[in-house]
Amino acid sequence: MKNNVKSCRLQVTGYRLRVQLFTFLIVCLPFINQCRNDDNFIYLKIRDHSNGVKVINTHEHQHWPEEYGNYKFRFYHLINASYLAADIRSAGAGNLQWVLIDSLDLNQLWDMYGEALGYTRTTSYYGQFVKGFRKLYGFKDLYFTKENIESLSAQVEENYKDYITWFDKSFRKAGFELMFIDQYWKPFNTEIDEEHFALAFNINALISASSRRPENDKELSGFYKEAAKAGFVINSLDDYLRFCDHLFKENVESKAVCIKNSQAYSRTLFYENIPYEEAVVLFSKPSASLTPGEAKKIEDFMFHRIIQKAVEYDLPVQIHTGYLAGNGNTLDNGQPVKLNNLFLKYPKAKFSLFHGGFPWTGEYAALGKMFPNVYLDLVWLPQISREEAVNSLEVMFDCVPYNKFFWGGDCGLIEESVGSLEFAKDVVSEVLTKRVNRGLLTEDLAMGIIDRIFRKNAIVVFDLEKKLEKKF
Ligand SMILES: [Zn+2]
Repeated sequence: MKNNVKSCRLQVTGYRLRVQLFTFLIVCLPFINQCRNDDNFIYLKIRDHSNGVKVINTHEHQHWPEEYGNYKFRFYHLINASYLAADIRSAGAGNLQWVLIDSLDLNQLWDMYGEALGYTRTTSYYGQFVKGFRKLYGFKDLYFTKENIESLSAQVEENYKDYITWFDKSFRKAGFELMFIDQYWKPFNTEIDEEHFALAFNINALISASSRRPENDKELSGFYKEAAKAGFVINSLDDYLRFCDHLFKENVESKAVCIKNSQAYSRTLFYENIPYEEAVVLFSKPSASLTPGEAKKIEDFMFHRIIQKAVEYDLPVQIHTGYLAGNGNTLDNGQPVKLNNLFLKYPKAKFSLFHGGFPWTGEYAALGKMFPNVYLDLVWLPQISREEAVNSLEVMFDCVPYNKFFWGGDCGLIEESVGSLEFAKDVVSEVLTKRVNRGLLTEDLAMGIIDRIFRKNAIVVFDLEKKLEKKF
């Protein structure tokens, strides 16, 4: 009996508790919703502010469509020129081939690539590709389908009949003011469209050619052909350095705003300090007789020499770090910490490290924190992994002053650049909103940081007003 009374009381108490909890939730729900709405409101405010920024995009590989070949550009051509192609290959579709893409119809292409394209719907490459179509083509769906690709493809075909006009229209619609262009596929070209671009001097060839001198009877190509064209005879390291100096002068005269090293695609980023005397001896040997270690030493010497030149001309040194585009390479070549010796040796050089150093985002942030002359360019990081960009940017803001960040797109055609800008604005706005909501930042400062990352930091560090004689 006693037990029955006790259990009855317990039931009544349990009932009361449930009623009280229910009432509490009913009372609080509007406040919880309000908080959510406020969060969203702040995000939208910050994100909207980012749309008004005239963006300085610190890294692009914009091509004219004809540079890919003589193709009639449609939807799948854009995929093939984009990062998304690598995810489609990664999903098992095999190589997308320009000639096939150009000759098959949309149904045939969907049969070949549709399944693999579907598997990439979770990736950031896919997400940023969609974003470009949302901004420029009014695309509303979440995914590409066999059906909706048809009208997109027709629009692409129409736009690419006059790509110059389409490029300019898209460039302005996205809010770009200037793109740094790294023409790695034609590194000796200094003539660019200055209305949209500023020149990045890609110095890969200056390093790699030092250990690949042509044999006497071989036809000249690349760096040595360029030297011969300019009237330089290269028989010694001093001759070689003279031509490099000439290239520096030529690029500076063409208003280059930085130099760019993307050698992680082919070698380690660890550049030892090799004495000039040792480099002279190694350079005098036939390149074919050099051991891999000796070849590396000459190249290491060259990059040190190039950094010294960059200091002389006040050109920041952009360096690819971390993840490597495509579908197969030696990942640890690009580990950011391998550059540590250079930051110590050249305090007057300005280094801009690319891509969040992914997957080594922590050490990347640490280098930006430790060295006043190391800057962090978020270029391409949101496209590699949006979530990693959000998470690591939280850490970076914890460690690194916000005057040290830049943003770039790193894309081949305008649709992808526009998508990557939209993607990056989402990421940065999301991270800043969280801080505002936690009471760590004011809204005003959050917006100021957006201005800094997407514009002002680049103007200051790359000295754009002076170098381009332009008021930004
Ligand atoms: Zn790049």
